[in-house]
Amino acid sequence: MGTELLLGEVLNTNAQFLSRFCAHHGLDVYHHVTVGDNWERLSDALVRARRRADLVLISGGLGPTPDDITREVVADVWGCPLRADAKEMRVIEGFFRRRGVPMTENNRRQALLPQGAVSLPNPNGTAPGFYLEHDDAHVAALPGPPRELEPMVTASLGPLLKASDRLPASRLYSRDLLLAGIGESQVAERIADLLRDQDDPSIATYAGGGRIRIRLATRAKDEAEALASFRPVLDVLKSRLGAFIYGYDDETLPGAVGRLLKARGLTLGVAESCTGGGLAHWMTEIPGASDYFSGGLVTYSNASKIALLEVAPSTIERYGAVSIPVAKAMALGAAKRLNAEVSAAITGVAGPSGGTPEKPVGLVCFAFYGPWGLTSEDVQFNGSRALIRERSIIHTLMRLRQHLGEEQAG
Ligand code: AMP
Ligand code: MG
Repeated sequence: MGTELLLGEVLNTNAQFLSRFCAHHGLDVYHHVTVGDNWERLSDALVRARRRADLVLISGGLGPTPDDITREVVADVWGCPLRADAKEMRVIEGFFRRRGVPMTENNRRQALLPQGAVSLPNPNGTAPGFYLEHDDAHVAALPGPPRELEPMVTASLGPLLKASDRLPASRLYSRDLLLAGIGESQVAERIADLLRDQDDPSIATYAGGGRIRIRLATRAKDEAEALASFRPVLDVLKSRLGAFIYGYDDETLPGAVGRLLKARGLTLGVAESCTGGGLAHWMTEIPGASDYFSGGLVTYSNASKIALLEVAPSTIERYGAVSIPVAKAMALGAAKRLNAEVSAAITGVAGPSGGTPEKPVGLVCFAFYGPWGLTSEDVQFNGSRALIRERSIIHTLMRLRQHLGEEQAG
């Protein structure tokens, strides 16, 4: 509830938190409404919400200032006049007594609850929330500040709803397959029949940041039932897209590579030119990466490739900095200088300028050194500088994953 939200001053994180709460408890959410601190508009929004929903969740407007009118409007719309709640009055009086601050009439207002409402204690603030069921219409009013609302929902509203026996017996479960190295349209093509004929579980694809997420979702009474419903579809997806799947749910690509390195007791060192340390950054975002990541050298200039990675000046002169021979020399140099059993090197033209007919913007050369030997390849990427750099990192990680054994997760 709030004018601040409409003005864009405050981000509506309560909406996200409450939607996740509902999803977790099997409650379908069909509407989010934001209205300012205005009687008529709030009343109007609540009349509609009460009519179309079994349960209405409200956040905000429970404070002591005159624009906090949620309790009054709910009382009016639900037809349950406000009454002082003796217990909440004592809590609020105690709060002010302990602080030695005089209590005003406005603070007293916060102990008013619609008749028949159950108060929801607020250990992190003064205004209690409340839960009201009247004429089969359920409403919970919660404080605006997230640090008050979130604990109240977790500690009081959740258990209250559970105890009321009104939560659905089933809820939505989902499983995400994470893919890279393939475009969304190619994915859609390979699983066109699944997407077309889907029923239960539902299948949706999401793309972003060079990666793709295929989400399976189903309503089930527990995890085991959900997994049983996912299993046949997962098997088909794995058989058709296996090489591109790097993980599930909250897994990350550097995390997946890290797991493989660790399992084999290998350490990785990287040499980066056009990605400027981005690969090392990704690798080190994973806690505990020092177990398998020895480090990275950012060798952006020719001179640093020569000085730090022992790339021969003649190799650069002969083939150019963006070339397979230089990428190979960089990978070998990184393994040696970083004392790593596995190494990867990236050198490319990230653009937007610097491209030539033979070496256009987006051309990136890679080399990989490890127990499999020394491999290399060049790839022509499209897109902005940022995208080319990101795709180069993803490509490196996918290739490392493959070299390290293409272990199929899950
Ligand atoms: P209110 O009780 O509506 O006056 O809200 C008090 C304060 O809580 C606001 O000034 C915001 O900082 C915060 N707040 C209110 N509603 C939300 C919301 N939906 N999401 C995040 N913060 C909120
Ligand atoms: Mg307010």
